[in-house]
Amino acid sequence: MSRSLLDLTAAQLGAAVREGRTPASELLTASLDRLAETHAGADGLNAIVHRVGTDDAAVQPLAMGPLAGVPVAIKDNFATRTLPTTCGSKILEGWVSPYEATAVRKLREAGAVVIGKANMDEFAMGSSTEHSAFGPSRNPHDRRRAPGGSSGGSAAAVAAGIAPIALGSETGGSVRQPAAFCGIVGVKPTYGRVSRYGLVAFASSLDCVAPFGRTVDDAALATEIISGHDPLDATSAAHAVPAMRVGPGPLAGLVVGVPKEYFPDSLMPEVRATCDRALEALRAQGATIREVSLPHTPYAIPVYYIIAPAEASANLARFDGVRYGMRLEADGVQAMYGATRAAGFGAEVTRRILLGTYVLSAGYYDAYYRKAQEVRALIARDFTDVFASGVHVLFTPTTPTPAFALGAISDPYEMYLSDIYTVTANLAGIPGISLPIGRVNGLPVGGQLLAPAFDEPTMFRAAYALEEALGAEAHR
Ligand code: GLN
Repeated sequence: MSRSLLDLTAAQLGAAVREGRTPASELLTASLDRLAETHAGADGLNAIVHRVGTDDAAVQPLAMGPLAGVPVAIKDNFATRTLPTTCGSKILEGWVSPYEATAVRKLREAGAVVIGKANMDEFAMGSSTEHSAFGPSRNPHDRRRAPGGSSGGSAAAVAAGIAPIALGSETGGSVRQPAAFCGIVGVKPTYGRVSRYGLVAFASSLDCVAPFGRTVDDAALATEIISGHDPLDATSAAHAVPAMRVGPGPLAGLVVGVPKEYFPDSLMPEVRATCDRALEALRAQGATIREVSLPHTPYAIPVYYIIAPAEASANLARFDGVRYGMRLEADGVQAMYGATRAAGFGAEVTRRILLGTYVLSAGYYDAYYRKAQEVRALIARDFTDVFASGVHVLFTPTTPTPAFALGAISDPYEMYLSDIYTVTANLAGIPGISLPIGRVNGLPVGGQLLAPAFDEPTMFRAAYALEEALGAEAHR
């Protein structure tokens, strides 16, 4: 099959299969060929860690829906019934779930074909995929660089044309940051918009199912398909799902806020210049640009790194050598738990469990955890206030820099700062999108749009217009 067929959008590929112009089997073969080609050699992408075979029963589309026959990649922390679910961790080696995540089921019911499970930082803790037991993924734009993380394998798979759509998950930016690094589109829906049933829990008050696409339209299509209430997830919202594929159009009447805290003097000048061009493009479409302030932004990283590890320390208690995956035999049950967890978890996961256990312990709970919850409320109120003041969406850089080199960041705190512009949306529960807005030194740069809770249509409206207005400039 020609390269050009694989480079079509998911919407176009689904239509071609539905209308009988392209057999689904041809898309599957093309996807697996591209996978083999991009994964060969010592600098292979290592984006997909468990893949299907062409004879597996699960590769037949379930339905002739909008994604009929469209290959999709699924982050390795979603429960799938036929492929292993290992969260990039040794502790889940070989584990196959007895049930399927709701978001995966919805994609398959729309006709999508799961071609494999994508690499990730262990239990979604990280920003580079370097914390995966399977080794790091590589950035298709420069294989010496990280694709971002934690959903780096999903992002690399989409950027490399293995699948036009992939599922990732977000707790603090794990889809928007890799989307920015890989030059694609990543969406973090409103908390509660998409069922988390079957997504292995990291920090339950922050976790969101979040899709990738190469275009805003494919990302909107995927978001629309996976959204909706699910009785199997008590935190899934009852809100009706609005149309999200609103398409490009003028932005007359739209007020775009530019939070000054996201453009510090220390911001890389080339990233600032790329953002300025994007703002100019939004203005040219009719939007009004207004500088605003989100004063509690400086506390976002410390607050996130108290709340997320606290919740993780509780959620990861279930990996005890009894219920899932690996077990190290030892003398007595306590010793078996200890030995299994010490051998099964990597350094970053261990650090988070220790940190989380500490901030929840008697005597420290009030000083750290309760205080962090109070500041989280202030961060959320910054957004409520700015949206109540007549601002419809916010525009910011997605990350402070383009993709960094693999191995370049060894200090955990420096790695945490990679999420400085993304964690706020997770803390506040609001939707966000990252889309390509240009290049710096040949590497993609992402721009972020944030909208009020459950207002994905306005977020997509601005994103479609920005993508259209930037055109080829976004990829130059
Ligand atoms: N990089 C952040 C962390 O390490 C966010 C991860 C995520 O969104 N899953 O926690």
